[in-house]
Amino acid sequence: MAGKKKMWHKTMQGVRAISFDLDDTLWPTLPTLLRAEAAVYRYLEQHCPEVLTDPGELRAQGAAFFAAHPALAHDLTALRRLWFEHLLGADSPHVAPALEILLRWRSRVVPFADVVPVLRQLRLHYTLISFTNGNAEVQATPLRDRFDFNFRSQELGVRKPETQAFALMLERIGLPAHAVLHVGDNVVDDVQGARDAGLKSAWIQRPLNAGALAPSDSAPEADLTIHTLHDLVHALGEHHG
Ligand SMILES: [Mg+2]
Repeated sequence: MAGKKKMWHKTMQGVRAISFDLDDTLWPTLPTLLRAEAAVYRYLEQHCPEVLTDPGELRAQGAAFFAAHPALAHDLTALRRLWFEHLLGADSPHVAPALEILLRWRSRVVPFADVVPVLRQLRLHYTLISFTNGNAEVQATPLRDRFDFNFRSQELGVRKPETQAFALMLERIGLPAHAVLHVGDNVVDDVQGARDAGLKSAWIQRPLNAGALAPSDSAPEADLTIHTLHDLVHALGEHHG
């Protein structure tokens, strides 16, 4: 135990910034997505009911469409627009409002209970970064102004786990990889990606939401495995000075 603690201590020395994945790391994603899609559905029901099948079927069709366009996986907003154009017609006047409704609801997230107090605490000691492959807009969420930098793959042009995504983030914050700890729920996008780019990594396992995909059960490459952000504070505690 003492040996493990010592190793962890050494690993975290020199960390000056912490980057956080958003979806399923700082808030549960599925309930937000379902609310967003339901809001779009209500709009379409009212304005163009002829294109609609039942919500479950529409969701499945959307998922299949997304899977068929991997080149846009880093830009879910562009992908949603393309999907609405496919569904409603490229010239439909309902594409823009449907997308606007989706994005508005997409940012109406409910952070896990530990998030706000821990971010407040960590910000006294570290530069804080949000770094997502998703299209929630941090400044429209309850986590507005909690970070020093916000990055989305759709603006970077490349998504996690690609090393280039992490490299762009590092370049913009002006720190070397070894000075940054990345925290996320996805073993590939977050843990492997961070490791490949030379960052430290913490894998967070959040409780499952009904219907959510099961998380992987191991992330051997992670420097730390945690269940809440309080675990992170505990692990970093010795370095606050
Ligand atoms: Mg995530």
